[in-house]
Amino acid sequence: MNIHEYQAKEILRNEGVPIPPGEVASTPEEVERIAKQYGGTVVVKAQVHAGGRGKAGGVKLAKTPAEAKEVAEKILKLHIKGLPVLKVLVTPAADIANEAYVGIILDRASKKPVFMVSPAGGIDIEEVAEKTPEKILKLPIDTRYGLQPYQASRLGFFLFDDVKKVRAAAKIMQSLYTAFMKNGCSLAEINPLVTTPAGDIVALDAKMVIDDNELDRHPELAELRDESAEEPSEVMARNANLTFIKLDGDVGCVVNGAGLAMATMDLVKYYGGEPANFLDIGGSSNPEKVVNALKIITSDPSVKAILFNIFGGITRTDDVANGIVTATKQNPLKVPIVIRLTGTNEEIAMKILEENGFSASSDMDEAVKRAVELAKGGKAA
Ligand code: GDP
Ligand code: MN
Repeated sequence: MNIHEYQAKEILRNEGVPIPPGEVASTPEEVERIAKQYGGTVVVKAQVHAGGRGKAGGVKLAKTPAEAKEVAEKILKLHIKGLPVLKVLVTPAADIANEAYVGIILDRASKKPVFMVSPAGGIDIEEVAEKTPEKILKLPIDTRYGLQPYQASRLGFFLFDDVKKVRAAAKIMQSLYTAFMKNGCSLAEINPLVTTPAGDIVALDAKMVIDDNELDRHPELAELRDESAEEPSEVMARNANLTFIKLDGDVGCVVNGAGLAMATMDLVKYYGGEPANFLDIGGSSNPEKVVNALKIITSDPSVKAILFNIFGGITRTDDVANGIVTATKQNPLKVPIVIRLTGTNEEIAMKILEENGFSASSDMDEAVKRAVELAKGGKAA
């Protein structure tokens, strides 16, 4: 789960990271009022779940409250990486002498949190990693012992020469690590971590991604979820207890079981198609799940054909067939559908489908091939 910059900053502030104050607003008038309170130059920042907001025009300095209102008007009309900007963070501007990068990611290969720090912060860290990898220090942490003081100092020395700054940075590393572990993060990042001309070190941006599996343990974090900032189809799927990930293609896939879903996507690709999503209706699928799955898939305008691929074990294929019939009666389909069913109660399922004007096969290869053809505008066979 992604959280907003202002939420991540709140968490890190409570952990002791030096961060300028800030307030969230959703109208230009509120922004003007907040800017007046702070006095001086402020920064108005789009709150969306996307990086590179600066480049997209979503981070602007404003010298006066009137100017803050003006830039807020523009930012609140932006879409950044397809996501509408509904809120902005207003914060007193800091003077910047130097920008560094500090992040922790959960590394699957080493199964450890890995610190990544670089004195070349502010811009895309991916670009630094690609062009000047020597400017990044990676340090895996053994979670049995946590971040040791010597490690925190080493990270600090990679960023600064001055011992006072190294100490301040080391303290920030400890706070970031504590926040990362305490909140079940898969990522926690400060970019930029700036040095002011006066020599203070402050975090001007923060990003945290919380592992979805931690949310049951952390109801206070689950509350931070902002559904208005998420892909609508993924919100709908989560609320219907379906595993769904939107992709860029045009073949909508409804599958039971994650393994079969992966195999189906592979086969769609093999036959030259592009899956529009990953959707797993799970094991014991009742007709309602199928209805919800179809609702979600058909709400995506890029879907040109729908492919059902169901292997009936615990899942009864007649349940799925009933779901398809119910769903399409409620919302008649505007795109062709290809159904492949095999396994438990297959004969009953085929009969239900036939009686309702659908055809289905038990051959996965054939079904996938046909769905790909149909998505490309081919005729139904
Ligand atoms: P991102 O582009 O989404 O990562 O947004 P950031 O919050 O990192 O802001 C992008 C850039 O805006 C930073 O790297 C800074 O150069 C600049 N910026 C952000 N806050 C301030 C500030 O308080 N003062 C100044 N002078 N620049 C800022
Ligand atoms: Mn940033």
